[in-house]
Amino acid sequence: MGELSVATPIDTMELRTLLSAAAGPVNFIGGGTDMLIAGRTMPTGGLLIDLSRMAGMAFISADDGGIRIGGATTVAAIAAHRGLAMRLPALAEAAAQCGSVQIRNRATIGGNIANAAPAADLVPVLVAAKARLGCIGRDGASRELAICDYAPDRGYLIAEVILPGDGLLPCSAFVKLGPRRALSISRLNIALLAEFQDGRFGDVRIAAGALGPRPLRLPLAEAALAGSKLEHAALRAFLSALAGEVDAAIPGRNSQAYKRRAIAGLGLDLVAQALGLNPRGQLFEDAAE
Ligand SMILES: Cc1cc2nc3c(=O)[nH]c(=O)nc-3n(C[C@H](O)[C@H](O)[C@H](O)COP(=O)(O)OP(=O)(O)OC[C@H]3O[C@@H](n4cnc5c(N)ncnc54)[C@H](O)[C@@H]3O)c2cc1C
Repeated sequence: MGELSVATPIDTMELRTLLSAAAGPVNFIGGGTDMLIAGRTMPTGGLLIDLSRMAGMAFISADDGGIRIGGATTVAAIAAHRGLAMRLPALAEAAAQCGSVQIRNRATIGGNIANAAPAADLVPVLVAAKARLGCIGRDGASRELAICDYAPDRGYLIAEVILPGDGLLPCSAFVKLGPRRALSISRLNIALLAEFQDGRFGDVRIAAGALGPRPLRLPLAEAALAGSKLEHAALRAFLSALAGEVDAAIPGRNSQAYKRRAIAGLGLDLVAQALGLNPRGQLFEDAAE
């Protein structure tokens, strides 16, 4: 494999040239918050491409057509972007709860996806929003794929995260449960995107992390809310569906009983937050009993 060499391209043309010329293994480093801390994931040979100076890979655009986020955009920039917070509040909320100020200032969205951690906080929102990834392959060619089809071992660079306008629903929220209030890797995290009008849900999409090797959609929970009026019976059906999702995802695990209970509280907070309601209001308190 030879010694490790590091390249810091400044634009896509230079990056593509490096990729197509590289004979051995190629790895990328964004903010380094996973790679450097974990140590064992730090490559010892081949080419390491540092993305921190890539012009054009750190940007956010959010308009009626949808949202586009460069792969080297920091989590702090995502948390602070006002247009994005209006268009997809759940993503801004997930970013604001990711690590500490120092971590958010370095960590990138591309690294959060590529690191493929089961509890990665941005990923449930991206899965629920049907995100697509604009990638660059080892051959230097561009390709686009659904976030669910991304596999880190294929060596694709995530150049851009694309959230098509028709995948964004007007109400959204993200909540997480960790071992402490700050600087906490999620024990469970969950994102919801929904249509809601005249007291009734329309389309609903829900995805959760830390329930399996990668964040996944929760179809039983989605079906329990979709088309339902916001009332006691619907919330009880939703909580029962969430418990069913935990049973299906992690049967027999030590954490099953704990996560079954925890997801109920998270689920009610999630719905209340997405609709701008008080999670301690009577409707939610009654549903929790
Ligand atoms: C103290 C601490 C607290 C943390 N808290 C949280 C938390 O609350 N929530 C959370 O979700 N995460 C948390 N993390 C994990 C980490 O900060 C995030 O996953 C972060 O988004 C990783 O981004 P990065 O740019 O630093 O990745 P890096 O460390 O640079 O890279 C991680 C992996 O992704 C690959 N990679 C990076 N960028 C790209 C790209 N554009 N295309 C393809 N591959 C790429 C690298 O090759 C590497 O394999 C925490 C980490 C630490 C150390």
